[in-house]
Amino acid sequence: MGSSQSMRKNETILKSRVKMLEKKLKAESKRNNFQKIRMKRAEQQIRHELEELKVRNKALEDTCEKRTPCCGICWRPYQNNEAMIPRILSCGHTLCESCGLKLAKSSYVECPFDRIKTPMFFNGIQSLPKNFTILQLANVSRQS
Ligand SMILES: [Zn+2]
Ligand SMILES: [Zn+2]
Repeated sequence: MGSSQSMRKNETILKSRVKMLEKKLKAESKRNNFQKIRMKRAEQQIRHELEELKVRNKALEDTCEKRTPCCGICWRPYQNNEAMIPRILSCGHTLCESCGLKLAKSSYVECPFDRIKTPMFFNGIQSLPKNFTILQLANVSRQS
């Protein structure tokens, strides 16, 4: 009689242990799934960045080929229209207007190449002088 009792005791211990292990396994697989989702997201992110880099690389190759002067931040070719007008900072560096707008604070723009601040007037980035030399070069490269 004593041995059957202890057997039953062992059984219940084993059952509870199995239950615990099942719980653990469930939690583990949940964590695994979560990890998988995160990995997938990271992979998508990387793929997306790669696509963007490819586009940028293509733009770079194109402009190098044509020797078109480009903004050193966004690598788009300068043009004599609003977004791509080359603007000269007081440090001597030139930026396109759209990049200048992105970098502009209320009263100054900080040069992304050397961090020198160029003060701006009420009309912001448009108060900075146009770089006509660059525009001339851009025209020449477009015509040739
Ligand atoms: Zn730019
Ligand atoms: Zn500068």
